[in-house]
Amino acid sequence: MHFRRLEDAELSNTTAVVRVDFNVPRRENGSISDDTRIDAAIPTIKFLREAGAKVVLLSHFGRPKGEPKPELSLSFLIPVLRQKLGEDISFSDGINATDLNAPITLVENTRFHAGETKGDEDLARQWAALGDIYVQDAFSASHRDHVSSAGLAKFLPAFAGLAMERELDHLAQALENPKQPVLGVVGGAKVSTKIDLLSNLVTKLDMLAIGGGMANTFLAAQGFDVGKSLCEHDLAGTAKDIMKAAADSGCQILLPIDVVAATDFAANAPHRVCGLDQVAAHEMILDAGPETVEGLLDAIDRARTLIWNGPLGAFEITPFDTSTVEAAQYAGKRVKNNGLIAVAGGGDTVAALKHAGAADNFTFISTAGGAFLEWMEGKALPGVEILRGDLS
Ligand code: AMP
Repeated sequence: MHFRRLEDAELSNTTAVVRVDFNVPRRENGSISDDTRIDAAIPTIKFLREAGAKVVLLSHFGRPKGEPKPELSLSFLIPVLRQKLGEDISFSDGINATDLNAPITLVENTRFHAGETKGDEDLARQWAALGDIYVQDAFSASHRDHVSSAGLAKFLPAFAGLAMERELDHLAQALENPKQPVLGVVGGAKVSTKIDLLSNLVTKLDMLAIGGGMANTFLAAQGFDVGKSLCEHDLAGTAKDIMKAAADSGCQILLPIDVVAATDFAANAPHRVCGLDQVAAHEMILDAGPETVEGLLDAIDRARTLIWNGPLGAFEITPFDTSTVEAAQYAGKRVKNNGLIAVAGGGDTVAALKHAGAADNFTFISTAGGAFLEWMEGKALPGVEILRGDLS
């Protein structure tokens, strides 16, 4: 994928306004429970500093809805960043450009300004005045047409940061320019949240395995009685349309051929493996059965690229994590031993692959939620579009 990278930018003696994603989860006592997002931004900040640039960091945090809310201030990050970067960090309201003499400045929560989410040009001009170039390093916010995630490009030359670059290169490797055949694995709760995603994928992939609760909707659409399974019966027509679009584009759909049916949605609930036509009225499908897993492992063997979103069953409760765990572990092995390219992301996917102990073996796991899904849906992401093309 062609986009402007930091290596294309003149950096020495400049100030880079860098969009990062510091929207980290915090515990009740205020401590950070997962600093993955902060760590993801560190290489870009260090790269800029080593190239002789000053750095101004912009991030949203929570949903202050356009007004300053002290409990959503980003000031809690100052000691964390100081420790991770080994440099002094100054803090700014982001409006007064004259207070920006420090090598690294963290600007207060971008969403304290109502204009941020509205793409307000006056706000864009104010933030653009903080620096000379704009570095977009927050793929996870790139599906938003906000000032900090896209709008600044109107006033400053925009470049991808290193985390963004890594993300875009891997995503291109999976869907834009992949080694074929490409297998998609899509699971999760509902078809309704993934109609666009499924519709896009069937036009691009060679094989698509559908699992999780959403597979029940497809099975019901084919006339199987799914008992009290999670199922969107009203989307039977949509499921059929997706099957037809897949057939028209030569994408093979893999649906469960056997299932694990349980009496309750609870860990270790009484359960059994059964055929698609054997689910009783009081049972619910909570996982794919062993023959389905066998078929999926075969498909993984045939694929040279795998793109995965969503668990194949109710993976949070044992033993209904079995198919997700087995398929994820197998994919991880194929990456290590056979050069499979496996990219995953979105929603619960990271948790499911971590649970399987397979996350580290995947080629790339995107921690972006909505942006990853919109990219899988084939949508243009405003924060990525601004990085394309040549600067005039
Ligand atoms: P999503 O956010 O759409 O990726 O959905 C993830 C959720 O789907 C997880 O919490 C799973 O427990 C749930 N899920 C997956 N398969 C099933 C199923 N067969 N029945 C009910 N929930 C499921």
